[in-house]
Amino acid sequence: MDFTNSERLHKEALQHIVGGVNSPSRAYKGVGGGTPVYMERGQGAYFWDVDGNKYIDYLGAYGPIITGHAHPHIAKAIAHAATTGVLYGTPTKLENQFAKMIKEAIPSLEKVRFVNSGTEAVMTTIRVARAYTGRNKVIKFAGCYHGHFDAVLVQAGSGPATLGTPDSAGIPKAVAQDVITVPFNDLDAFNEAITKWGDEIAAVLVEPIVGNFGIVEPHEGFLEAVNEITHRAGALVIYDEVITAFRFTYGSAQQVYGIEPDMTAMGKIIGGGLPIGAYGGRMDIMEQVAPLGPAYQAGTMAGNPASMAAGIACLEVLQEEGVYEKLDQLGEKLEAGILHQAEKHGIPVSVNRLCGALTLYFGDQKITNYDQAEASDGEAFAKFFKLMLKQGINLAPSKFEAWFLTIAHTETDIEQTIDAVDKAFAAMSE
Ligand code: PMP
Repeated sequence: MDFTNSERLHKEALQHIVGGVNSPSRAYKGVGGGTPVYMERGQGAYFWDVDGNKYIDYLGAYGPIITGHAHPHIAKAIAHAATTGVLYGTPTKLENQFAKMIKEAIPSLEKVRFVNSGTEAVMTTIRVARAYTGRNKVIKFAGCYHGHFDAVLVQAGSGPATLGTPDSAGIPKAVAQDVITVPFNDLDAFNEAITKWGDEIAAVLVEPIVGNFGIVEPHEGFLEAVNEITHRAGALVIYDEVITAFRFTYGSAQQVYGIEPDMTAMGKIIGGGLPIGAYGGRMDIMEQVAPLGPAYQAGTMAGNPASMAAGIACLEVLQEEGVYEKLDQLGEKLEAGILHQAEKHGIPVSVNRLCGALTLYFGDQKITNYDQAEASDGEAFAKFFKLMLKQGINLAPSKFEAWFLTIAHTETDIEQTIDAVDKAFAAMSE
């Protein structure tokens, strides 16, 4: 494959855009660097880059593109929005329609508010939880990504339940001191944190199905215990469903496990590919938000007609019969194919999969928390990533990310992908 035009564009980008990219993971840091491929067109499950190379896409733009690229129903909705004005600064009917749709799909949402990104959505849930409880501290789980605002770019200190240290320059120590990080799926560590700081905790922030160190499900009973222990301490449970909402079922991870948080943050899929975030929850909590209450949150672009129209259209597509069954079937076929090839070539791997999202880890340990994911073989993944890219398979450039299937993928795409895995594993086992 020839990447001449991508290379030229990247040189140019480096002169104008910091690091050449507008989001760091796009710079291929997670796979040891290299020139990122510059895509020019996406259609269904495929991408074409600026050198004319075609790819089967499993990046799915890090999650939102569950219907495939340029889905005609969503494209039509966006085109209509473009011709009727993309931004009014006034309320619109579309906002009511979309809020109703989301509430019907996720019953724990008694009231919602639209924002512009997952980051904004999670950030605001924390502010609202602090306003509601009058407390400051937040517990989060190690390795879970919740956006790029200060309070969540914090990692664990040295012990299993210690106050956090900033994960990025520019974050005041005082902010990090209000964040406690514990390992996912570790109730003992969680209990320890609650025992130590229980009456200072405003909220526990949970990815109910982790998407950010691969797809990792909670152990049976984990979410229920987190809910019970958190509520006993007088704190709120916030689910970060930015990845999981409408990913595994028409609804959220709450429906997958039959459990409800106090508040939920969403993003990605609900925008049909346009910028969006949303948060919501119990009425008495959401009443804290301006203009009803003292917790301030606003946005020039919030609830803009184009994002609303794209989001409504996307959910309409996902309401069609058999969508999630199809994602599950394709996912099952892909998982089985990868595992078969790994066995054939003697490559130790483990796969975590739920419906149409999966993560391939190099190493034979089953992954249930961040330390295990971190210990999986990143060099092997980097090699694999590059071998797949050269065969026209576009994966996320990090061992911690998921492969996202879309409803546009076909059985033939999966077979072609498994063939590429066969060749990649063959090269890796030489
Ligand atoms: N929460 C989770 C679980 C995410 O995966 C992400 C983004 N990957 C975010 C929040 C932040 O969303 P955004 O990039 O839209 O700000």
